[in-house]
Amino acid sequence: MRLSKWGYQADFVVYPLLIAGVALHTLWAATAPRGAAWLAAVAVGLPAWTLIEYTLHRWVLHRVPPFRSLHAQHHEHQRALIGTPTWVSAPLFLGLWVAMAHAAGRTTAGGLAAGLMTGYLIYAFIHDAVHHRAARPGSWLFRAKVRHALHHRPGAHCNFGVSSGAWDAVLGTAADR
Ligand SMILES: [Zn+2]
Ligand SMILES: [Zn+2]
Repeated sequence: MRLSKWGYQADFVVYPLLIAGVALHTLWAATAPRGAAWLAAVAVGLPAWTLIEYTLHRWVLHRVPPFRSLHAQHHEHQRALIGTPTWVSAPLFLGLWVAMAHAAGRTTAGGLAAGLMTGYLIYAFIHDAVHHRAARPGSWLFRAKVRHALHHRPGAHCNFGVSSGAWDAVLGTAADR
């Protein structure tokens, strides 16, 4: 979806606040073991995001209408301010947090939600940088730019991971040329 300048930047303001809010909600006056359990859940949620990112990109954004045509706009106009609005993604994360709290308890759900949202925020930073920032050849960002540029080639079916190339390697969609 095409966004205004402020709409495009909203993720970078709203998500740090949401992550801090979820952390405070879970950890306020928490005991040390509960804090440790929360951190363990963060350590699961953070890498779990990379699989969600891959899954959503490969099978939802590239296949399921109307997401397919919305994402096609980003493929056509790579530097335009196109993305998922914060007012769509944030309620989904918060709904997931509430559902997980019912299923797994407040501490685990708080850690998982904080880890997943941190993963999403890192993804948003990287995807923005990949399209809008220059990178020194040989740097990590340069390699991420090359990997994502290959995904953007017309007709390409590769490199669906933006924040990580791991799932492309595991699921056979990695390409380096
Ligand atoms: Zn794509
Ligand atoms: Zn892109």
